[in-house]
Amino acid sequence: MPQRGRFAPSPTGDLHLGNIRTALIGYLWARESDGEFLIRMEDLDQMTSSRALGERQLADLAAIGVESDIPVIWQSDRFDIYKSIINELTERGLTYECFCSRREIREAAAAPHGPLPDGAYPGTCADLTPAERSERARERPAAIRLRTNRSVVAIHDTLHGEFSAQVDDVVLLRNDGTPAYNLAVVVDDALQGVTQICRGDDLLSSTPRQVYLQRLLGYPTPEYLHVPLVLGNDGERLSKRNGALSLRDLDEQGRPAESVRELLLASIGGSFSADALLRVGTWTI
Ligand code: GLU
Repeated sequence: MPQRGRFAPSPTGDLHLGNIRTALIGYLWARESDGEFLIRMEDLDQMTSSRALGERQLADLAAIGVESDIPVIWQSDRFDIYKSIINELTERGLTYECFCSRREIREAAAAPHGPLPDGAYPGTCADLTPAERSERARERPAAIRLRTNRSVVAIHDTLHGEFSAQVDDVVLLRNDGTPAYNLAVVVDDALQGVTQICRGDDLLSSTPRQVYLQRLLGYPTPEYLHVPLVLGNDGERLSKRNGALSLRDLDEQGRPAESVRELLLASIGGSFSADALLRVGTWTI
């Protein structure tokens, strides 16, 4: 099967050097494998993302030489697709309605009843009776969660090796009607035929739950490469606070996109090869 890589940013602001480096590594990985590469805009959250910001990200990526071989899709155009998959899971008895507020989840997760990973949903609404459900529906609309078996799922990452985590009952549809990231990312990677996923290693811990969902839906599991973040010279993850650099900031500092590309290539070992990929490390600027 031909390889196909992807970069899937959320258009919530300008890409910083760390995101751009991840995109470039993913692009080069696909090309190294004689594969195709696509960009997908993950603008599910209409409160924080916009088309205008997405267009700026696409222009920045193009300036660094990272372009999509096929037309870019925007997740905000695809809610019907995600909802039909959620309905399919519901028909299979694999979802339930959840009425918990964030605070209730925090408090319940802190209670000592079971080895759930940090932030995992403790299953409070998993077995509500119909009467309890209609009672709780008076407080707020329901989110829809996946009913998992809470198994431990092991995944393989090209850089990190084996990683496993217990899956939890993730949200599939938020209570404002927005499909959730974990569902949309799994559906789109499968529908777009993605075989290689390169992204920041802050998402490594979400991968077992995504692989669990892939298996439920009968989708193949792509190869993963979770790339370490770029740190500022204060040793912290790049953020606006420590001067997270966008291409515009760098250009103003006298570093045009072409020289940024050279700098990024140097950070992964000068030229790109499968071997260089395995040397992709945390990079401090
Ligand atoms: N859209 C997600 C983000 O920007 C990344 C999703 C992914 O690569 O799986 O954080």
